[in-house]
Amino acid sequence: MSEKKAVLCRNVKIGGGAPVSIQSMTNTPTADVKATMEQIRRLEEAGCQIVRMAVPDMEAARALYDIRKQTDLPLVADIHFDHRLALEAIRAGMDKIRINPGNIGSQDKVKEVVDLAKEYRIPIRVGVNSGSLEKDILQKYGKVTAEGLAESALRNVALLEKYDFDDIVISLKSSDVKMNYEAYKIVNDRSDYPLHIGVTEAGTPSRGKIKSAAGVGALLLEDIGDTMRISLTADPVEEVLFAKELLAALGIRKDAIEIVSCPTCGRTEVDLEKIAESIERRIHEVTEKGVCGIKIAVMGCAVNGPGEARGADLGVACGKGKGVIFSGGEILKTVPEEKIADEIIKLAGEYDKNTGEF
Ligand code: SF4
Repeated sequence: MSEKKAVLCRNVKIGGGAPVSIQSMTNTPTADVKATMEQIRRLEEAGCQIVRMAVPDMEAARALYDIRKQTDLPLVADIHFDHRLALEAIRAGMDKIRINPGNIGSQDKVKEVVDLAKEYRIPIRVGVNSGSLEKDILQKYGKVTAEGLAESALRNVALLEKYDFDDIVISLKSSDVKMNYEAYKIVNDRSDYPLHIGVTEAGTPSRGKIKSAAGVGALLLEDIGDTMRISLTADPVEEVLFAKELLAALGIRKDAIEIVSCPTCGRTEVDLEKIAESIERRIHEVTEKGVCGIKIAVMGCAVNGPGEARGADLGVACGKGKGVIFSGGEILKTVPEEKIADEIIKLAGEYDKNTGEF
């Protein structure tokens, strides 16, 4: 967790040493309140902490009043070009707005938005994107560059600071993983505002998860980033589930269940892929019982298996047609291959965090 300035988005603290929060964005028409609310509820159930909605027109802005009444989840309105939409979104009770002050229009319009955000005590995210860099910056650098993105973000921040506003979160996303990483590094060094990180337009789940793991993961490992969104061309719930997995894999999120499984080799004598997949697929049965923060190891043989399995809270080292289940370094039982996944799910669900026993 980085030590940036703290900003509050309803009840979620961004920066100031707070854990990295997970956000996503609805892909229903915002004016369709019913469909949008259904998606917000699914996102919340999946563990989304902040939900953003596109506000392309006044009909969408007005729908925000209804949406606000139906959820307490922190809500963010995403606005481009029309400052009146930003004003309406703030009045509708949004907890943060995302704008580019540079494309909102005249200084007076920016000031109007800033003044209302101050009155309602909500933060503004300055969201710069590689697809919308200012012309003069493009000319200066000849093309989109990390330096250019950083310059644009800091310039947009200055437009808000000019009106004595510092309740700011910054994002400066690119779909180019390396440029994205370098741009965030520059702004992280030059600014004290919390950072919303992500790789934009990362793509379909198979490609997008790789790009996001590389881009967002690299930043998080350097303690850069205070809130994150994984962008996938998919159901937004998938963004949240992957964000949770990524934070768990990086050891940042302590409330997730970490599952490690060996890559298998010529020594494997069970269908380990099937066992590991079955455990992963059913792990929600364990989390639904309130169990979290444990490590499960699924290992294919008696060579490296027992060591890794012993080091986990719950582990299995497989032999020919069977699995030896360990907990806290002790052998619990031996079960036939076809019962391994069932037994791991059952035992994990019985974990008592006070005693550390299954
Ligand atoms: Fe092979 Fe055993 Fe290592 Fe799995 S744990 S990769 S089966 S040596």
